[in-house]
Amino acid sequence: MKANTNFTKLPQSYLFSEVAARIRDHKESNPESEVIRMDIGDVTLPIARCVLDAMHKGIEEMASTVTFRGYGPEQGYAFLREAISEGDYKSRGLDISPDEIFISDGAKSDLGNLGDIYSPDSVVAVADPGYPVYVDTAVMGGRGGDLTESGRWNKIVYADSTPENGFVPRPPKEHADVVYLCSPNNPTGVVFDRETLKEWVEYARREKAVIVYDSAYEAFVDDPAVPRSIYEIPGAQEVAIEIRSFSKTAGFTGLRCGYTVVPKALKASGENGEEVSVNRLWNRRQSTKFNGASYPIQCGAAALYSPEGRAAIKENIDVYKSNARYIKKKLSEAGFETYGGEHSPYVWARHPEQTDSWALFAKLLKEAGISCTPGIGFGRAGGGYIRLTGFNTPEKTREAMDRLGKVDF
Ligand code: PLP
Repeated sequence: MKANTNFTKLPQSYLFSEVAARIRDHKESNPESEVIRMDIGDVTLPIARCVLDAMHKGIEEMASTVTFRGYGPEQGYAFLREAISEGDYKSRGLDISPDEIFISDGAKSDLGNLGDIYSPDSVVAVADPGYPVYVDTAVMGGRGGDLTESGRWNKIVYADSTPENGFVPRPPKEHADVVYLCSPNNPTGVVFDRETLKEWVEYARREKAVIVYDSAYEAFVDDPAVPRSIYEIPGAQEVAIEIRSFSKTAGFTGLRCGYTVVPKALKASGENGEEVSVNRLWNRRQSTKFNGASYPIQCGAAALYSPEGRAAIKENIDVYKSNARYIKKKLSEAGFETYGGEHSPYVWARHPEQTDSWALFAKLLKEAGISCTPGIGFGRAGGGYIRLTGFNTPEKTREAMDRLGKVDF
């Protein structure tokens, strides 16, 4: 066969493999030293008991011809779509109905799959630094153009997150058709304020663009002043798709379940400028290419909307957030400039004396036995920064930060 050259244009995934290789080298040269992983992007706390019980029950139903379930609805079971509609939206004053919610096997799949329903020549805009999946899937879909020497793709529009804008990116001057936004943000841990999100919604309305709003970390927000959903902004249902996940919220990184909201008010333009329902396009795409998330997993996800499920989510997230706050405090005491770490498991940091991401990574690994993620791996505007995460245990997090306190910068 002939290869899809959109894929061959992409550089090899350099960031995480390079981080892993450097940690391996360090361990080989220092077999007695224990590296504390502060670069973990995965959750570490176990699944809540009520979720496990619901999954067991779902599995047991498969044992009897009376309760056995085969293929489920491609859009997800009604019991889960209804629980989400009520628990995550209607109870918060947002009118999202079950038929606007599509259950997925996680946010990453849908972030990529959505590319099926945009016109191939769509201009994609991303915030920089950002979760690499937005740019890589745009390139795979033929929407990247060419990689330039600056490390950026010439057809992609970049909205920089910088210290000047507090790492809250503003809409670009250029036109875009599809905009990827993420709040609470990976990697910076920063959240959108209501005013800036309003500017993005206005931008999308003006440019007739769609915003793909990745709120995989929304459960980390507990300040009512901070938007958890883009639909808190008036008019957003006409311009935004929201993507969520149970991965970081409830430890589902291995179980795999999330959901995508495609409001019925959202319209694209057809061949002759006529309005096309994006909800219908996505429904058509899912019915053809997806056979639904696993039934026992959806049973487990629905249990998260019970009082026990809610309490378990809060308990886990409180641990990660407390770790992140501690990391932020200790980094500040060590002279770092820090961002995020309040409504997020991520802390984004720079030291005035060490302005190269990889040099800072190497110093922390060598002198403190701590691994982090170099910010440059998330985009050009991440240069000079590092990302630390609150996903390790409280004990290891404290030990890592004690070690950091002894490093001379
Ligand atoms: N979106 C963001 C911003 C993420 O950081 C991640 C995972 O790290 C995902 C989506 C993927 O989530 P899921 O496990 O649901 O595929």
